[in-house]
Amino acid sequence: MSSLPPPVLKPEIRYTKLFINNEWVDSVSGKTFSTINPCTEEKICDIQEGDKADVDKAVVAARKAFELGSEWRRMDASQRGLLMFRLADLIERDRVYLASLETLDNGKPYYMSYNADLHLTISCYRYYAGWADKNHGKVVPMDGDFFAYTRHEPIGVCGQIIPWNFPLLMQAWKLAPALAAGNTVVMKTAEQTPLTALHIAALIKEAGFPAGVVNIISGYGPTAGAAISEHMDVDKVGFTGSTEVGHLIMQAAGKSNLKRVTLELGGKSPMIVLADSDLDFAVETCHFGLFFNMGQCCCAGSRIYVEESVYDEFVKRSTERAKKRTVGDPYDESIEQGPQIDPEQFARVTRMIEEGKQSGAKLMCGGKRWGTKGFYVEPTVFADVPDDSSIGTEEIFGPVQQIMKFKTIDDAIKKANTTKYGLAAAVITKDLDRALTIANSVRAGTVWVNSHNTFSAAMPFGGYGMSGQGRELGEYGLANYTEVKTVMIKISQKNS
Ligand code: ADP
Repeated sequence: MSSLPPPVLKPEIRYTKLFINNEWVDSVSGKTFSTINPCTEEKICDIQEGDKADVDKAVVAARKAFELGSEWRRMDASQRGLLMFRLADLIERDRVYLASLETLDNGKPYYMSYNADLHLTISCYRYYAGWADKNHGKVVPMDGDFFAYTRHEPIGVCGQIIPWNFPLLMQAWKLAPALAAGNTVVMKTAEQTPLTALHIAALIKEAGFPAGVVNIISGYGPTAGAAISEHMDVDKVGFTGSTEVGHLIMQAAGKSNLKRVTLELGGKSPMIVLADSDLDFAVETCHFGLFFNMGQCCCAGSRIYVEESVYDEFVKRSTERAKKRTVGDPYDESIEQGPQIDPEQFARVTRMIEEGKQSGAKLMCGGKRWGTKGFYVEPTVFADVPDDSSIGTEEIFGPVQQIMKFKTIDDAIKKANTTKYGLAAAVITKDLDRALTIANSVRAGTVWVNSHNTFSAAMPFGGYGMSGQGRELGEYGLANYTEVKTVMIKISQKNS
């Protein structure tokens, strides 16, 4: 941690307008909204508020940039990759500023912004930059006298709607594969965290992307977000957020032009701790699995199933660990936990804690607001959580850990799979055989063994069941931004 460069403590706010066609513009309505510092509950600045009229303008710009013969469509794929490498380099140049700004707008610890968010963001752009000229089709030996091949083409204008928990990273997960495949983009950022995405927009222009290829709209979900998902001239919508809004996005796509839809939604991810594991390691891994990013991760390990013989000791040590968790100013390197993002999330987390207390679960520590200012919640641990309680089944999105007991592996797998979700799961054990049995049996898009919250741009991420549709990252993520065209050329005679 000693190599961590110091943050910019009051990062200058450089961009507050909408970014359409490589220009900074005011919203058509003239409306603005405030972005709030979740540590102090004070306004950081006012931002131009985009809605349907602005989305329409951005779609026109993105469509024009996508026209046949445009600079973007005629650009060599390798050149597209080069622009993306350049963007990654510019993000690296501004890494301290961006990490500081992310912490200001989101409240996450600066050392996490710098080491985790910025690291993963930069590697995501570089990973997909390398794909730009490698996303190609095949020559296929079809029957008859034909020369037949497939072509990988961009889908077109992609609408992208992102959340507030990892603003820079979620932007990268969406933009990077879309651009590598040659699409154009209209992105709506989360109303809680508009700032860093706007700085990235400036870097996109600086890197030399043609006008209209990327357009960034700050604004609210039911207005700007809905305008994207309902739009008749948007070819695809990529969404990360709540399962409730995921339903709306899919309905809007169905009611409008059947645009392609990919969704990365909520979760209630199980972590299964076997008795043979190193208990301190298991406790720390589960602690990180849940409390990382103030519990505001769609893949948070929020149902921990512990084998009966080590259950009591695991609960005791997990409680001690949570009590030691440092809460406070996210710019302070010794602080592990900042505030929740906004009053709505704070209210939801505290309501769920109250429901937990009523459910018969045992409150081991925490359970209250931390401090008097900011949306802080004490690190909270519940043990003996009833399987059917709301805290045992519903996403909390806060620093609230649920611990339960199991008797046999079959019992653990059954409990893990009793959920409408299926985003992630983890197993903690030294027994490879049992690890693989569990990894193969749980219904989840990602399974971590002796790890949690580990990400790689090369490894796909997404959910089973109501956790989503499609995958992001890796080669699979690229496929979700690609149309496959079949071309069959009749020839007089094949050679063989
Ligand atoms: P959360 O509850 O964690 O804020 P949401 O699913 O509400 O998650 O938000 C994720 C993203 O979806 C945000 O950018 C938000 O503005 C957007 N959003 C919210 N409601 C809608 C909607 N009706 N249509 C499109 N996007 C929406």
